[in-house]
Amino acid sequence: MGVYDERRVKIVATLGPASSAPETLRAMMEAGLDVCRINTAHGSPDDRARLIEEVRAAAAEVGKMVPILLDLRGLKIRTGPLEGDKVPVARGTTMEIVNRPEPTTATRIGIDYPTLFDVVKPGSRILISDGLIELLVEEIRGGVAIGSVGRGGLLLSRQGVTLPGAPIKGGSLTDVDRVDLEFGVKYGVDFLGLSFVTDATDVRLARQVANWQGGTTPGLIAKIERPEALHNIGEIAAVTDGLMVARGDLGVQMEAEKVPRAQKQIIRVANERAVPVITATQMLESMITQPVATRAETSDVANAVWDGTDAVMLSAETAVGAYPVEAVATMGRIIREAEKEGPVRTAASSLPLPDQTETSAVLADAIARAVRELSETDPVEHLVVFTLTGTSVRRVAKYRPRPHIIGVAADEDVARRLNLNWGVRATVVPLEDDPDHLFRVAGQQIVEQGLAESGDYALIVGSLPMTRVSGRTNMLHVRRLGT
Ligand code: PEP
Repeated sequence: MGVYDERRVKIVATLGPASSAPETLRAMMEAGLDVCRINTAHGSPDDRARLIEEVRAAAAEVGKMVPILLDLRGLKIRTGPLEGDKVPVARGTTMEIVNRPEPTTATRIGIDYPTLFDVVKPGSRILISDGLIELLVEEIRGGVAIGSVGRGGLLLSRQGVTLPGAPIKGGSLTDVDRVDLEFGVKYGVDFLGLSFVTDATDVRLARQVANWQGGTTPGLIAKIERPEALHNIGEIAAVTDGLMVARGDLGVQMEAEKVPRAQKQIIRVANERAVPVITATQMLESMITQPVATRAETSDVANAVWDGTDAVMLSAETAVGAYPVEAVATMGRIIREAEKEGPVRTAASSLPLPDQTETSAVLADAIARAVRELSETDPVEHLVVFTLTGTSVRRVAKYRPRPHIIGVAADEDVARRLNLNWGVRATVVPLEDDPDHLFRVAGQQIVEQGLAESGDYALIVGSLPMTRVSGRTNMLHVRRLGT
């Protein structure tokens, strides 16, 4: 299978200082990296531009289509700077809290959020450093909140602040995000991650802003990291191109013990809608400093596979960790082992797409289910799905068929993006309206690229006429590839 391995679930890795050297990038791709994530919370635009070029060069060398996900940071509220290295904040201490990035001391803390007192009231909790430190607000007077330290610890400079339950508006596409979004469109990234989405309007707004830039609009991945987003997951899934279970912030915005159930819920909705979903954060956290994963981390990755995720993600493990290549390889091994009995089929991936009223969509979905049934038949070794926009491929993948799916698109951007999806390998072939000629040319290319052996049986799926109809799968055909 060349550079594409037997896994169905994909690996997303965040790039950073530990993984930006060309030889490390190549080694990570060879070890199984499928999608590169660049987080705009770190580095400068020049660093990101360089990284994008490096990813493209490494992917070309390795011979793999590797999509790039540029993650927009959203509204990240931070504490002010410190005068020293760290300040111990003791449980029970009375603290003054101000809404400016003032230097922080052991009894007074600055928070860089001018409208803090519009959303924080007596009784509110303020969490710092992913919830390591907890402040309980008791009263607000004269532009200063007085609170006590519920959970103490060592406070570092410019730490992330979480205000659980606070109605923060406009947190999902800040002015800085708009600049980053423009950068992403200019550099032709494949996906944009949208942080702190609360509802479908946030996704629609980001799409509108991206469309205004001209060029190809990247796919939008809504990061589910607020309880409101979880509440609105159905409407968000209906308008987004992908979802992320952003367990880091989600586990601070709501009780961490609720995150496993939220993960299952988000994945189920994504599967129902045939929207790719990435399970993220702390998956192999201990590999930041050690070359082997803990048993709990190993189980976590396997359980995400069994939940039905399309992809699993590495963050600090590959961005700043000591073992970026080993982390990717470890994930690959865990996924392959978890998938040994074949595709994981969740109840959601067996349901027709919800709310379908259009006859053509209902029929296309019925064909995708038939493809799954037919592909249980022994000689069928590949599913070759022709697509204009990727919709037909996602619909076939939704039913988690036994054979690998080879997505064939005329547009390289469409093909590259498909590599995020469960079980899909993509290739680029110019589409044409003579199906017989198209199937022969595509079959030969698939064999030449090592995605299939000459003479293998494939089920061909598409929409006729091939060059004009999107997402209305209406054709099934059995063929031997490369003949
Ligand atoms: C998360 O919170 O889990 C996440 C992926 O977001 P980020 O790392 O961008 O804060």
